Amino acid sequence: MDYTNLQHFSSLKDALASIFGAGVNIVENRRISGGDINNAYRLTLTDGTHVFMKTNSKENKSFFLAESAGLAAIAQTNTIGTPRLLCTGTDEQKSGYAFLLMEFIGRNGQTRNYWETFAHQLAAMHQANTEDLVADRTYGFLQDNYIGARIQLNTAHESWIEFFRDCRLEPQLADAAPYFDRTDQKRASQLLENLDKFLVEPEHPSLLHGDLWSGNFITGNDGRAWLIDPAVSVGHAEADLAMTELFGRFPQVFYKAYQETAPLQPGYEKRRDLYNLYHLLNHLNLFGRSYLTAVRAILQRYVS
Ligand code: ADP
Repeated sequence: MDYTNLQHFSSLKDALASIFGAGVNIVENRRISGGDINNAYRLTLTDGTHVFMKTNSKENKSFFLAESAGLAAIAQTNTIGTPRLLCTGTDEQKSGYAFLLMEFIGRNGQTRNYWETFAHQLAAMHQANTEDLVADRTYGFLQDNYIGARIQLNTAHESWIEFFRDCRLEPQLADAAPYFDRTDQKRASQLLENLDKFLVEPEHPSLLHGDLWSGNFITGNDGRAWLIDPAVSVGHAEADLAMTELFGRFPQVFYKAYQETAPLQPGYEKRRDLYNLYHLLNHLNLFGRSYLTAVRAILQRYVS
């Protein structure tokens, strides 16, 4: 199922002509820094319109199909800003490359109550209907996607805890095996076997951004926080909240406002590190040993 209804073009020229009209050219192509997976550009067109473009090798075009499905899922909740998608494509020029075009977000200043509004909008996204986002069951997503450059499974499950075990922790723990000693291995197995003692099923399923750290929202044209670069799935909202606390927390007003709108289930603080274990394992598998100490500390805290 093509959830996004996005058009896929076989050249950048065709894409721009189809979306903006024949005769439109790129008058400036400015590199944007900040991403760690793709190349990013601000294209300026003949009429002054700015377009945001990401590129990667054509072998990696699945990154953009996954990203656009995630952005479309967020957009259809009508709860929080996210850039409007334009199209995907594969251009055969030179050695060939894949591209994703979307609305360019020109930053304005932040509105008053920026963090409170962000919290309220994120809580609304977490409360939006998720029925069409998972085939038949409750948790997962219509397709697999990526967390950083690594595949993220989204196989539909009826239980959040089983989903988190099978599609999140287990594959990362398996790939981290070369870093683990016997004690780590034993703890990893015990954790997976006893996950239902540590996690709880949510009161309702939520669409998750899935990679919610400070690099993955930008100030939109309305001065509010807009979500970019998602790794969506339907799961427990507290997994998104946990990630906001992993690499430096958001300001306290954000958490207060979120709690006022959508109170967290008791015991969130005890579960938080288990959700973040997933991201730390992903970093261990992507970037190497420097994340091992943090991974071990969490394993040890849950399984002695
Ligand atoms: P990557 O997929 O490589 O992680 P990002 O999604 O993080 O790339 O984007 C790279 C850079 O482009 C970041 O600095 C981000 O703030 C900026 N950016 C992302 N989306 C837009 C957009 N729609 N408009 C303007 N800037 C954007």
